[in-house]
Amino acid sequence: MTRRFQNIIIGAGHNGLACAAYLSRAGQSVLVLEASDVIGGAARNRDLAPGVTVSPGAHLLHAMPADLMRELNLSEHDLSLAATDLNTVSLAVNGEAITFDGDTVTGSAVSDADKAAYVRFNKDMHRFTKALGPALEKLAPEIAIETWKQRLDLMGLGWSIRKLGRYHMREFLRIIGMNFYDLLDEYFENPQMKAAIAMDALWGGEWGARSMGSVLTYLYRMAGYARNGDVGIAQPKGGMGAVSAAIAKAAKAAGTDIRTGARVKQILVENDHAVGVELETGERIEADRVISNADPKQTFMKLVSPDHLDTGFVRQIKNLRARGKAGKLHLVLSSAPKFKGVDTVNLGSRMIIAPTMDEIELAFNPSKYKKYPTAPVLEIIMPSVNDESIASDGRHLLSAVVQYLPYDDTPDEEANRTAFLETVLDQLERYAPDIRKQIIEAELLTPRDIEREFGMTGGHWHHVELVFETFLFNRPIPALSRHTSPITDLYLCGAGCHPGGNVMGIAGRNAAQLILKGGK
Ligand SMILES: Cc1cc2nc3c(=O)[nH]c(=O)nc-3n(C[C@H](O)[C@H](O)[C@H](O)COP(=O)(O)OP(=O)(O)OC[C@H]3O[C@@H](n4cnc5c(N)ncnc54)[C@H](O)[C@@H]3O)c2cc1C
Repeated sequence: MTRRFQNIIIGAGHNGLACAAYLSRAGQSVLVLEASDVIGGAARNRDLAPGVTVSPGAHLLHAMPADLMRELNLSEHDLSLAATDLNTVSLAVNGEAITFDGDTVTGSAVSDADKAAYVRFNKDMHRFTKALGPALEKLAPEIAIETWKQRLDLMGLGWSIRKLGRYHMREFLRIIGMNFYDLLDEYFENPQMKAAIAMDALWGGEWGARSMGSVLTYLYRMAGYARNGDVGIAQPKGGMGAVSAAIAKAAKAAGTDIRTGARVKQILVENDHAVGVELETGERIEADRVISNADPKQTFMKLVSPDHLDTGFVRQIKNLRARGKAGKLHLVLSSAPKFKGVDTVNLGSRMIIAPTMDEIELAFNPSKYKKYPTAPVLEIIMPSVNDESIASDGRHLLSAVVQYLPYDDTPDEEANRTAFLETVLDQLERYAPDIRKQIIEAELLTPRDIEREFGMTGGHWHHVELVFETFLFNRPIPALSRHTSPITDLYLCGAGCHPGGNVMGIAGRNAAQLILKGGK
C-alpha cells in the first residue's frame, strides 16, 4: 500500500518544487508527482545533440527573488550563475546595433536626447516598480473586505501607490492601463530603441506593444530585476535545468519524495474535499491535500470531474485565455557566429531582433489568424559563450525565443513548422550572414510543441494570459486568486496563479506559506 502523505503536489515544475521545499522544511510530508521523466517543467535541460545541453523552455533567469534563493540555500545545492547582468543588444541589419547596459544606452544612431531620456525613463519605471513590486511577491490582496487583515492588505497596495507623491501617483494611474507603444513614444525618438524596450513587456504573451495594459506587463518584468539581488538578466551554469535541480535538491534534503514518470489522471474528491489522486496507471494515493502545479485549465477541466464544480466556475475556467505565442529556436553551430555590429564581448549578451514597434505589431498580427509571421521577433542568446559546459568540441548553442507563432493544430502543422524554420533562419541571416553555413542541427518548437513537451495548455508560458483582467486578485479568476479553490483541500501553486509566469518560485512559496498558516 502506498504511504499516505500530508501533501501531494501535481507537477515538478520549479513552482511545484519550491512549494514542496517550503512545506517539507516546515516538517510536512510531501510527494511530488511529475508526468514527465524529467523535473523542472519549462525550466529544465535536455540534450539537443551529443555533448550539447539545451534549456528548451526558459533560457534566462531574471525574476527569482534573492531571498527565496537564500532561504532554499540554492547555492549550496549546486546552483551557480555563469553570467549575470547581461547587456541587451538590439541588432540592426546595417550593423548599427544599440547596447543597453544599466542606465547607459550606446549606438551610433542613438541621439543624446534619447540617451538622457533613457536615464529619465529608467528612473520613472523604477519608481513605479517599487510601488507595484511588493504586491507581486505577496499573496494577492483580497477584494472581499470583511476582516481587518483584508482591509490592511488592500490598503498596503494603495499606500505604496499613494507614497509616490501626488505628481507620480497621478502619473502612475495615468500610464498603468496604457499601451506601451504610446508611452515609449512619449520618451524616445529612435524606433529601434523603442522596439527593444517594448519587447520586455511582451515576451511570452498574446499581446503587442499596442495592446492595452502592456505598460503593466513591463513593470511586471522590471519587478523581477528589482527583487533578484542585482543579478539582472542571468544565465545559470549548466542551463535553466540547474535552477530546478537545485530547488529539487533543497526539497529532497528536507524530506520531499519526488516521482517522475507519474502522470496524474484525476484528483479524487469526496464530499467536496480533495482526498488524493489517481495516476494513469490506476494507482491511487491518498493525502490530506492536493496542490496542483499544472495550469488551471488542465487542473479544473481534465483532472477534476465537472460534477464537483458549479457551471459558472467551469465557464470562467473554460474562457481563460491560454494561447501561447512564443516558440523556441535551437541551433547547434560549428563555431561562434558573427552578428553585424556585435563584438566578441557582447556575443554573450542578450540580442534582440525587433527593428521597430510597428514591425512588432506586424509580426503579431498574423498569429491572431493562425498564421505565421514573415519577419519574426527574436530574443537570442549564445549560452555556450558564457558557459563552456553547454557545448563540447568548439561547437556553440544558439537559443532564441521566437514571437509570434500561432497554436497550429492544422493537418499541415509539420510542413508549416519546417517552412517557418526557414523563415526564422532567413531573418537571422539578415543579421548574421554566414550563420546557415555553421548550422549542424536545428530545432524549432511551436506553442503546440511546447504544450506537448511541458504540458502547458496552449503552450502558454504564463499558463494563463497575463493581462490587466488576469492580474492580482483576478488571477487566474477571482475564485482562485489566493491558491485555494472551490474544492476544499485543493490548491494551485503554478504560473497560472498570482503573480504569474517566469522562473521565480513565488507562486510555489506563497502557496506553501498559505497552507502552513492553515489555508486561509
Ligand atoms: C519557450 C519558453 C521560454 C521561456 N523563457 C523564459 C525565460 O527566459 N525566463 C523566465 O523567467 N521564464 C521563461 N519562460 C516562462 C517559464 O518557463 C514558466 O513561466 C515557468 O517555468 C512556469 O513554471 P511552473 O512551475 O509554474 O509550471 P511548469 O513549468 O509548467 O510546470 C508544471 C509541471 O506540471 C507537470 N504536470 C502537468 N500536468 C501533470 C499531470 N497531470 N500529472 C503530473 N504532472 C503534471 C508538467 O509536466 C510540468 O513539469 C519561458 C517559457 C517557455 C515555454
